[in-house]
Amino acid sequence: MLRSHIIPVALFFSIFSLFSCLDEFGDAAQPVEEEQGYLDVDPRLWGYYDIFEAEGKARGLNIDLKTARISGDIDAIDENNVIGTCQYGGFSTNHVTIDNVYWDRSTDLGKEFVVFHELGHCFLNRGHTEDSTSEGLCVSLMRSGNGGCRDAYSTRNRAYYLDELFSQTTN
Ligand SMILES: [Zn+2]
Repeated sequence: MLRSHIIPVALFFSIFSLFSCLDEFGDAAQPVEEEQGYLDVDPRLWGYYDIFEAEGKARGLNIDLKTARISGDIDAIDENNVIGTCQYGGFSTNHVTIDNVYWDRSTDLGKEFVVFHELGHCFLNRGHTEDSTSEGLCVSLMRSGNGGCRDAYSTRNRAYYLDELFSQTTN
């Protein structure tokens, strides 16, 4: 009985101190990292965060991933066939993880594909859609990979997919 009382109290205080930290970062004195890149984001992802911002802005969205503070890393994801994840909700910042094996073997476009998909969850608040064209091609970057449609993200189709990505957001 004692335990079950102690734990919620401990959680409350850890949440409280987290909010205190965030408040400090909101002041005028910005950490140096804020100017050079994205705080708590693997530098290999910075270029893709930059392009995501630019492409969203080109489509009329107000996107500032530095303010949004979506942390990101490239690390082993143990779950089979999972190439990226977005952790969201709760009291911490949203967090993108890209699988390191996928990253090392992927082209620039393949890397962009997975980073943009995860930011589609973590920044645009989008869920999955498995819709496909009459030829069986995925209509969205936000396909889960379990729905049966075929990816067609290519240099030629990129503009279409980015139009679709940024056209549906609750952010
Ligand atoms: Zn997803």
